[in-house]
Amino acid sequence: MVKERKTATIQTMLDELEMEMVPFSRHLFNASWQWQQYDIISKNVPPNWVVFCMDFGENYSCKSQDEAQGAHWSNVQATIHPVVASYRCTEEGCTRTVTDSMMFISNDTKHCNHGVQHFSKTAIKQLQEKGVKVEKLVHFTDGASSQYKSKINFSDVSLSISYFGFQTEKHYFGSRHGKGPCDREIGVLKKQANINVAARQAEIANAFDLYNFGKENLTRPSIPGEHVHEKRSFIFVQEGKINRNRPDHTDVETLKGTQRLHCVTGTDKPYVVAYRERSYFCHTCMTRIGKCSNEDITGTWNISNLKGVKGKTRTDDLAANINRSRNRKKDAVVGSDDVDLPENASSFSSQNATKDMTESDDVALPNNPSRSQNGEKDSGWIR
Ligand SMILES: [Zn+2]
Ligand SMILES: [Zn+2]
Repeated sequence: MVKERKTATIQTMLDELEMEMVPFSRHLFNASWQWQQYDIISKNVPPNWVVFCMDFGENYSCKSQDEAQGAHWSNVQATIHPVVASYRCTEEGCTRTVTDSMMFISNDTKHCNHGVQHFSKTAIKQLQEKGVKVEKLVHFTDGASSQYKSKINFSDVSLSISYFGFQTEKHYFGSRHGKGPCDREIGVLKKQANINVAARQAEIANAFDLYNFGKENLTRPSIPGEHVHEKRSFIFVQEGKINRNRPDHTDVETLKGTQRLHCVTGTDKPYVVAYRERSYFCHTCMTRIGKCSNEDITGTWNISNLKGVKGKTRTDDLAANINRSRNRKKDAVVGSDDVDLPENASSFSSQNATKDMTESDDVALPNNPSRSQNGEKDSGWIR
């Protein structure tokens, strides 16, 4: 921003200030509201839900204490992208929440929506391999359009049920605010790496060295299998692994009013998303049955087809569905076996998919060519 000198009366200044206070206070309100929602849901995660907080850290510049080599390495950068997952502890009889930081390190430095989807998908796979059941995934991120908040992310969300068998919701912090756990995790890694390089106890010449450094020094628990509630693991993503040729995800239309929305969720229909201005996690919002008591803050749900198909949109139809299901299913909760929404409410429900998931012990992902075309293999956490 370039500052410029202006001359005007005090009254003009006051008027302009007053005008700017409106969007400014909206911005502050969004930031604190969205942060509160993350705080609430990540500390009280419903059973079989997983909450992700994600962010790209500033790239790590690889370095050595040796001057000559230091110069040689000075342009080598490593991407750091934590996925901090919160979920219920999987130990029998334990009801505590686990904070599980999956630190993605990569020599792919593009920082784009496709990378985010790759990290998210890999994190889910890792959790499922550890026995974490996922019936609903909640993302919290900032609203950077090239990474987290664009039509590509929205189509990923809309295809979540068909690809993974569970619904994904995206929630956004007010711009540039509140990335608490990610900032902390990035800080821990960078600080420890810098200390060890300065003390000549480590040489980090490239992203793979950084991954190895983290894995050897900062993995939690240090004794595998120990019953703890703070976990950290490192995952290396080799350049070339991120699939950026995904026409089924990119050939979609832009969602209007993207800037104002802080909450987007998939529906049962591919490419159809529901969105509203702000997040909330009351029983009504979580079961999607009924009208939220905080609707004046969250705003009403809108529905849009990213393929531009002009179907029936939210407004009256959805409201009618919501009301009908409210009357029929007052006690329905996510995951309960007897959820039986009226046929036309399926445009905005994950109940059937959720039911299928709970019936099978093994939450194997459905076969889908676009998931495995990178030929991923379980070679440790190198993905
Ligand atoms: Zn526990
Ligand atoms: Zn609500």
